[in-house]
Amino acid sequence: MDVLRQKCDFKGIAVPRVSDLEGHRGDLEGAWGHMLGHQLPALPPVDVFWSVLPEFFGWLEGGPAPVIPAAYASVSGEILIRERALRLPIGLPGQSALEIIRFAAANRLVVELRYQGGTRRIEPYSLRQTQDRNVLLHAWNVDRNEHRSYRVDRIEGARSTNQTFTPRYAIELTPAGPVVIPRAAAPIMTVRSPLVPVRRSAPPARPAKPRKVQGSHGPTYVFQCPVCRKKFKRKSMTSALNAHKGAAGYPCPGRTGIYVKTEY
Ligand SMILES: [Zn+2]
Repeated sequence: MDVLRQKCDFKGIAVPRVSDLEGHRGDLEGAWGHMLGHQLPALPPVDVFWSVLPEFFGWLEGGPAPVIPAAYASVSGEILIRERALRLPIGLPGQSALEIIRFAAANRLVVELRYQGGTRRIEPYSLRQTQDRNVLLHAWNVDRNEHRSYRVDRIEGARSTNQTFTPRYAIELTPAGPVVIPRAAAPIMTVRSPLVPVRRSAPPARPAKPRKVQGSHGPTYVFQCPVCRKKFKRKSMTSALNAHKGAAGYPCPGRTGIYVKTEY
């Protein structure tokens, strides 16, 4: 709070209050969709953003922090997974589904989960490893109105909706950052994903380009961010993406690239 006050003093403005924003709601509503819609897998409704502002400004002015609900009770032997390295051969569809689920959880958005041939709407809460070494996504099934857990290796896909939820448990999924599958565990080169155009034969012979001097020998791996579609070239088979900006210059939440092709 002191830092904020100092910054405002430095700029010669008063510390902002929620009442200062009232006059700008129309502008925000007008710009919300086209400003942010293409930046995110799913854009939360502007009403939801607006409705939490008083709580945020209350906290800024020294009020109580919002109450965080308790975590879903652990089954005995379960281990909470917070780190991003999942040592599981879940393949690319599962990997990008987990990225979408983390994004949705961070934004309190209901996820449409494709699982064992069906679709269900869920509130995602945590990843835990069971005693028999399966990794479960703990979630609330909105349609059945009850807690459910899903084996991550059986998740077929995920889509973030624009339906928000009020958490009934603590959200224990890391809010940002990639789920990194170690190369040895995941046969990345051979996964057939609908997102990945797979080249079935060797690349057509082309005259070799003059090689750049700065250590650019060896193949280049091209990864694509599933969120903003930006492509990244890599000298190693690493799918983790650094913080980057999407098309219109806003920070993109994507942190795991989808393998596209190898250039020689
Ligand atoms: Zn991106």
